[in-house]
Amino acid sequence: MTSPRIEADLDKIRHNARDLVRRLGQRGIAVTGVTKAVCGHPEIAAAMLDGGVSGLADGRTENVERMRQAGIAAPIALLRPPTPGEAERVERDCSASYNTELTTIDALARAARRVKAVHDVILMVEMGDMREGILPQDLVRTAGAVIRMPGVSLRGIGANFACFGGAAPDAAKMAGLGALADAVESACGRRLEIVSGGNSASLTWALEQTKPGRINDLRLGEAILLGVDPVSGRQIDGLFTDAFTLFAEVIESKIKPGDPSGQLTLLVAGEPGAAVRRGPTWRSILAIGNQDTDLAGLTLPAGLAGLGGTSDQFVVETAGGPLRIGAEVALRPNYSVLMRAMNAPGVAKALHNRRPPAKAGPADRIPPALALA
Ligand SMILES: *Cc1c(COP(=O)(O)O)cnc(C)c1O
Repeated sequence: MTSPRIEADLDKIRHNARDLVRRLGQRGIAVTGVTKAVCGHPEIAAAMLDGGVSGLADGRTENVERMRQAGIAAPIALLRPPTPGEAERVERDCSASYNTELTTIDALARAARRVKAVHDVILMVEMGDMREGILPQDLVRTAGAVIRMPGVSLRGIGANFACFGGAAPDAAKMAGLGALADAVESACGRRLEIVSGGNSASLTWALEQTKPGRINDLRLGEAILLGVDPVSGRQIDGLFTDAFTLFAEVIESKIKPGDPSGQLTLLVAGEPGAAVRRGPTWRSILAIGNQDTDLAGLTLPAGLAGLGGTSDQFVVETAGGPLRIGAEVALRPNYSVLMRAMNAPGVAKALHNRRPPAKAGPADRIPPALALA
């Protein structure tokens, strides 16, 4: 099979989604499955839906369009506030969008009115992470303006944590978000359906709660796909951390001296100092590079150590002797590796445990267990 290649085990993704949906469901929290790290890959999105997520969300309109074209009819929200220019596409393909600017919401409302529709809006609130969000003191006024605007409907509010500024989600922040929901409701005289308490970083908080207050939704990507808590980097109990594997092929294996020789230029293409090592060692080069993924985020098999890489080559030291030319090395991705590999045209995508599309009749051929897709 071609390499580099990323393989996904859909059963493990279904399991992770189902497990999180069950555990959060006991606490009154629904799960929105976030597909941006897999570029809206329709079968991976469908695996999240098989696991029971209440809807999907993605950061890019193109990814949403990809899922719609593949026949996914479930609710899909645009996670990153849209540009005013994409309002029409967002209105057409997204059941809702997360917003922070009235100018953009006005563009969405106009797009919806043109087709006699109503677009759902979730307002993002700034709770200290300092990425997107309306300042808390401006929320009630903005919510009022959305409610008065024909063509849009205020569906809820949400906040994001631990993405940019590193602000951790904790009980005080969650209570603050809940209080803002109450304030909007009493000022505007209308119930908010969704109070979305953040991304995978909020999971540890949520699982510790028996009564999570007003928070009734989390938007989860990393936890479902990789089974890890992004704050601690640790495995979430009961989840698979190996749903994805990246394969790269060995193109060179030689004993090489530890240090580069000759006059050294500052324009080293690899990591600074990457080539400096003690004594000669076995080294291999893998046919994968920074244009395919984020080499720094790879976990290598035991006995292999990454020395650094360039746009299309990854240099590794191999403790146990030479790797065979043409052998495939299995690498474990983190979120950044996954996102870039899924986005890279040069990386093949292969799926295990595929299911036929729901609309397929009994006569339809079930796709092979592992196929390039
Ligand atoms: C990416 C993103 C998420 C999902 O984050 P994960 O860490 O993958 O769970 C949720 N909400 C927003 C606003 C995002 O941008």
